[in-house]
Amino acid sequence: MLEEANNFLACPTCKSSLNLTSSEKKGNEIISGSLQCQNASCNNTFEIDNGIPNFLI
Ligand SMILES: [Zn+2]
Repeated sequence: MLEEANNFLACPTCKSSLNLTSSEKKGNEIISGSLQCQNASCNNTFEIDNGIPNFLI
């Protein structure tokens, strides 16, 4: 996924914005990493694998 795409993503549970952490990047594309919900009482974390964020809970 593109780094900028995080501006349009929200937690599917509580609709809060997400903190993007990348462990592997190619240009401005995130290959692997994680998206963490900024809502402390929700605290969902979604893995990014092969450039695809996994929003399955
Ligand atoms: Zn959330």
